[in-house]
Amino acid sequence: MDAGEATVTDTQQFYADLVMRHSSDGVIISDPDRKALWVNPAFIAQTGYGLEEIAGQEPGSVLQGRDTDATTGRQIEAACRQRREIRVDILNYTKSGAAFWVDLKVTPVYDSGGRHTHFISTMRDITERKMLEDQNEEMRHAEALRQSERQLLALTSEWLYSAKSFDELLMVIKRAMHTLIPEAEGALYIYDTSRTMLELVTSWGTMPAFAGHILPDECWALRRGRAYAYGLKPIEFVCDHVDKPGMPYFCLPIIAHGETIGLMHIVFDGFEEGGLTRHMRNDVLRNRWDISLICGEQISLAVANVRLRQELQEKSVRDPLTGLWNRRWFMEHALREVTMAEREGRDLALISLDVDHFKQFNDRFGHEIGDMVLKDVGQVLARAAGKTVAPCRLGGEEFVLLCADHDENAAYAQAEKLRIAISESTLSASGQALPAITVSAGLGVFGRDGTVLEDIMKAADLALYRAKAEGRNCVMAHAGPDARKPAR
Ligand code: GH3
Ligand code: MG
Ligand code: MG
Repeated sequence: MDAGEATVTDTQQFYADLVMRHSSDGVIISDPDRKALWVNPAFIAQTGYGLEEIAGQEPGSVLQGRDTDATTGRQIEAACRQRREIRVDILNYTKSGAAFWVDLKVTPVYDSGGRHTHFISTMRDITERKMLEDQNEEMRHAEALRQSERQLLALTSEWLYSAKSFDELLMVIKRAMHTLIPEAEGALYIYDTSRTMLELVTSWGTMPAFAGHILPDECWALRRGRAYAYGLKPIEFVCDHVDKPGMPYFCLPIIAHGETIGLMHIVFDGFEEGGLTRHMRNDVLRNRWDISLICGEQISLAVANVRLRQELQEKSVRDPLTGLWNRRWFMEHALREVTMAEREGRDLALISLDVDHFKQFNDRFGHEIGDMVLKDVGQVLARAAGKTVAPCRLGGEEFVLLCADHDENAAYAQAEKLRIAISESTLSASGQALPAITVSAGLGVFGRDGTVLEDIMKAADLALYRAKAEGRNCVMAHAGPDARKPAR
């Protein structure tokens, strides 16, 4: 070896030493059995282990720990056994027990004769990158969750808005709330008609019993007029209607057309046993609070919507003067009853009823007082209303009673009772006594007069004409001879 060659080698050695000493990556040199022989200063800085603590040991057995992925450990082992290079991300632990992520590369080294002499492991600390990746992953996860919540909320509002009746709406609310906030139980309360208390109208979840009713001043949300969350703040008070204090809960007023009409109560029962830290629990609660507020608003709108719809529906089948069912309702229900009578062999009768000499009455006292009389007649008829008797005003001073489960006799008795009641009711307007009003009536009977609604209505009208012809203020069972009494 001449002087020149020695200088080159020394220089190279010097450079190699510089790299090893100042590299920010940890380096371990191990023997073919993976026992550590040497480590660089970066390794000592990274791990806190000195050479004397790791020399002669398999580095993995020192550096891997509780949360290190065991599969990755086995992959490294297998690669070393097969003398393959391997590069993996692995969780290591410092001497003081702090976890850190490394990008680890283990390379087998051979001498000029091809003999496997060492492994060189380089370890780059990638903890920061991993944390960012985790954060991104968490954010992606949270975003996906929010997205699916938004979709569910949109779907729920669609269902809430398509509910046609209050009962249907309750069914949707129950299902939707259980799906949107699965870890909670809930109940919906609605003010009773006197507005003195709120009645339980539906509940969901597994909690055995919510109070059947609550008083408005038992609830902080109702008293303060805004949604109330219990379980998120350091100072808070339990509502009086809550019988199992200690669990987080929400109370959300349900408001329709500016008026509080009810309360949604959501309770997080069994939340404590979920193994969540207080911090995590509060995060979940805050998210559920946001969802609940949206749900509260949507349910409020949906209740208002259903009420409006029901009012319109009710208006479309009610006679505005008397409050009785109108012709539209009668036709629809009479057809249904005829079908039922035919299918189930049940009785059915119609009573056609018309005010006597009403034109004269109108001419003498005026249309307004005529209207009052019609209202009075309507009231007498309304009193007969029940499960089987439905009084309707077809128009003008013509009424009809749809009498399910009534044969000719029963219908006749009903008609007589009403005729007498009307003739006996005293009327007065602005202190002026009015002459008694009478009505005439005729029966139409399913079976006897046919099985088609039109025929039964026609028979009832003919019997009514007969009653008019016979002197009015009477009931005719039919248009034939001896119609003053039912045939049987
Ligand atoms: P009859 O005993 O034969 O039934 O005699 P009537 O005068 O009652 O018979 P008609 O059917 O000829 O007259 C019905 C009258 O009812 C005509 C109209 O002046 C009056 N009328 C119809 N609808 C209303 C209403 O909504 N209000 C008032 N006040 N009167 C009405
Ligand atoms: Mg008349
Ligand atoms: Mg008439």
